[in-house]
Amino acid sequence: MSTPQACFLYEQVGVELEKDGSIKVDGQNQTTVPSIYAIGDVCTKLPLTPVARMEGTYLARRLFG
Ligand SMILES: Cc1cc2nc3c(=O)[nH]c(=O)nc-3n(C[C@H](O)[C@H](O)[C@H](O)COP(=O)(O)OP(=O)(O)OC[C@H]3O[C@@H](n4cnc5c(N)ncnc54)[C@H](O)[C@@H]3O)c2cc1C
Repeated sequence: MSTPQACFLYEQVGVELEKDGSIKVDGQNQTTVPSIYAIGDVCTKLPLTPVARMEGTYLARRLFG
């Protein structure tokens, strides 16, 4: 979950949010702004450390090999 201030900033750059305030991402953690990705608690429905770690690992591997 993001703070109201963070939500305001996301919307300023065009990053769409879900109704619950989390960042909207596709199945590959891409936000509605193609150059911006989100992982972990800010976008997940399952706010747990292993989930954030796994998302970060997969995204880094996919983007940087
Ligand atoms: C009390 C509590 C107990 C928990 N217990 C467990 C547990 O037993 N097992 C488990 O799996 N999970 C647990 N969790 C959940 C787990 O902590 C989170 O799922 C995990 O930390 C998510 O990692 P993250 O990187 O997405 O976010 P975070 O770990 O919150 O990291 C986000 C980072 O971004 C920084 N940040 C925020 N805003 C800005 C900004 N504007 N500019 C720069 N930096 C910024 C923050 O300071 C923070 O360091 C618990 C959470 C809480 C609150």
